[in-house]
Amino acid sequence: MFSFFKRFKLNFFLFTLLIILSGSKILDEGMFPLSEIPGLNLREAGLKIDVKEIYNPDGVSLIDALVKLRGCTGSFVSEDGLILTNHHCSFGDIAAVSSAENNYLENGFIAKERDQELPAKGQSCQITVGYSDVSKEILDAAAGKESSDRIDAINKARKKLVEEAQKEPGIKAEVSEMFIGKTYILFKYLELKDVRLVYAPPRAIGEFGGETDNWVWPRHTGDFSFLRAYVAPDGSPAEYAKENVLYKPKKIIPVNPDGVQENDFIFVLGYPGTTYRNRPSEFLKLHRDVRLPYMQQVFASIISNFEELSAQNLDWKLKLDPQIKTMANTEKNYRGKLAGFNKVDIIGQKEKEEVEIEKFIAGDSELRNKYSGLMQKIKKEYEPLNQVTSINLFGLILSRFSTTYQLGELMAEYMSAKSLPDQNRPNIFKDKNKAMLQSTIDELFEGYIPEADINQFKIIVADAAKRSEFRDIDVLQRFFTNRPASVEAEEYFKSIASKTKLLNKTAFMELLNLAPEEFAKLNDPLVAMYKEFDKQFSSYAEIAKNAEGNLNSLLADFIEVKKLYLSSSFIPDANSTLRLTYGYIKGYTPADATYYKPFTTLTGLIEKSFSGNPDYVLPPKLKELWKNKDYGRFKDEKLDDLPVAILYNLDTTGGNSGSPVLDAWGRLIGLNFDRAYGATINDYAWSEAYSRSIGVDIRYVLWNIEKVGGAHNLIAELGVN
Ligand code: ASP
Repeated sequence: MFSFFKRFKLNFFLFTLLIILSGSKILDEGMFPLSEIPGLNLREAGLKIDVKEIYNPDGVSLIDALVKLRGCTGSFVSEDGLILTNHHCSFGDIAAVSSAENNYLENGFIAKERDQELPAKGQSCQITVGYSDVSKEILDAAAGKESSDRIDAINKARKKLVEEAQKEPGIKAEVSEMFIGKTYILFKYLELKDVRLVYAPPRAIGEFGGETDNWVWPRHTGDFSFLRAYVAPDGSPAEYAKENVLYKPKKIIPVNPDGVQENDFIFVLGYPGTTYRNRPSEFLKLHRDVRLPYMQQVFASIISNFEELSAQNLDWKLKLDPQIKTMANTEKNYRGKLAGFNKVDIIGQKEKEEVEIEKFIAGDSELRNKYSGLMQKIKKEYEPLNQVTSINLFGLILSRFSTTYQLGELMAEYMSAKSLPDQNRPNIFKDKNKAMLQSTIDELFEGYIPEADINQFKIIVADAAKRSEFRDIDVLQRFFTNRPASVEAEEYFKSIASKTKLLNKTAFMELLNLAPEEFAKLNDPLVAMYKEFDKQFSSYAEIAKNAEGNLNSLLADFIEVKKLYLSSSFIPDANSTLRLTYGYIKGYTPADATYYKPFTTLTGLIEKSFSGNPDYVLPPKLKELWKNKDYGRFKDEKLDDLPVAILYNLDTTGGNSGSPVLDAWGRLIGLNFDRAYGATINDYAWSEAYSRSIGVDIRYVLWNIEKVGGAHNLIAELGVN
């Protein structure tokens, strides 16, 4: 079974060890887990408040104001549960409540009264409430196990711990892998499900610069939006209901309307997604040579096709634009990473270090006994991964992005789950989760565009036809004839779509009521296609899982030896758990003879709008305010202008989108939303030379809500006067 169900499972990630950093060193690199914060010398770096005000395990601190959103971060900025995050983090929610009559995506959305706020159905908002080290439980369960058995044992142990923790009402739990095969932490989150949209700027502000400027500095995007969290009248987390009441956060982050200046100390709290810095060179090569180019090329073709469809009618546009945006974000990020691998020899450096590590092992009899041949063993496990990764990605694209395929998958898996006792069914099929199943089906049908699914299928099959590793895949043979693979794929897909009953919602709902045997008699062609494809692709997924299982213990050894070799410990890679990173507002030199200042201004934004590029089209109101130099109290005297975006040398990655950027006094001065193009490679290695993150200046946010949106209610709620 592919990743479709991952959406409903807990996000399991890597992680770990509690690092001891040499006390007085001032570091810029690092996404420090909570446990490390007390050991950091933040005061010496420039922090003006007590470290305990950031993180205090025995009391309330700034981290209590942080929320984890779907793939993003947000923070509470008012006592009434108001959350500030990025526009791109709410993009899907804004699109979902938009229509031709009320196109909030295009024109913006402002709830001046609480009862005008709209449900952000796709959001969930989680607050970290506790964590504990469960490495022993996990590793005991995995002891002596290899290959996929090891992964299964680890996942089973994780699931058990999660289920136990989730018995507490309102709690969502996750076991996060901090260091592969070594350290596992159980995180508990309070999950608030009733999240509502409060304010979104028009797309031309919230996404100003579009794909032209994505991953680019200088930047002028007003990438912010406001949400609000609600709970049941008794204060417990609950699904959306009209009678729900405001959630009262334990802590809020105060806004500093005066902003920051160049070289100021700042820090970011957030939920960075995934980095790969603790991986060996072979992993990086797998990314550089297989994963990144495959995804980048396939996504580029799908995006340009979807853009054509999106231009055809507004309904398609509202459905496709969130998908296009997600794919385009990844596509450009991967292009940036590939360019980064050419520019910075991270792999070469790792290879050299690994040769030294091998010598280090060889030079010590105890290490020799334990770790001899370690690097070769690791290398061997990457061989099958090099072969099957693109094939698995093909399967992943189908099960993540093709509604047609997902509907086949959902029905097939539902029918097999039906014959199991309730407690053994996948979560989504348990009786208590009927509402979740229904909303998944609703969502799938709402987003369904037959043309998009057909085109996408054609594209991935035509691409596979050009790649040698796909040549022997049985289910694809029917497309590899003397006619173009895209033509074969289109005919096949269309014929299934015309014969199946599953693409009609009423029929789909009725079929769900059939007994599995009755359903089987229908021989539905879409279910048959899913089963055939899934069987084939599962066998490739199993190859990858076996290698991952062996790597789980080998990489634990690798980290152990590396620690001894370097005589120090290191920070766990990002894994969507709460982290702190700190540094300074700082420009840089991304290329020969170029220096980038760390602030952009409204004047710069207006200049871009004269270029004729459609990504730089602006609402006329902005030009008018600029003409009148109507910056109110948000003007920066030094810049003699309104600041728009800020640049800093903090260590961030995807998932840090929407993270609050705080000043030395713990006040909010910006909102993280991106990195510079050359910094996308920092997922593999951070460097002061090229790692720069991008935020929207809080002064631009406040100016927008006051002067452009006229949302004086929000200005007052934020305590700005
Ligand atoms: N813009 C990014 C994202 O999409 C943030 C980052 O990766 O730096 O998550």
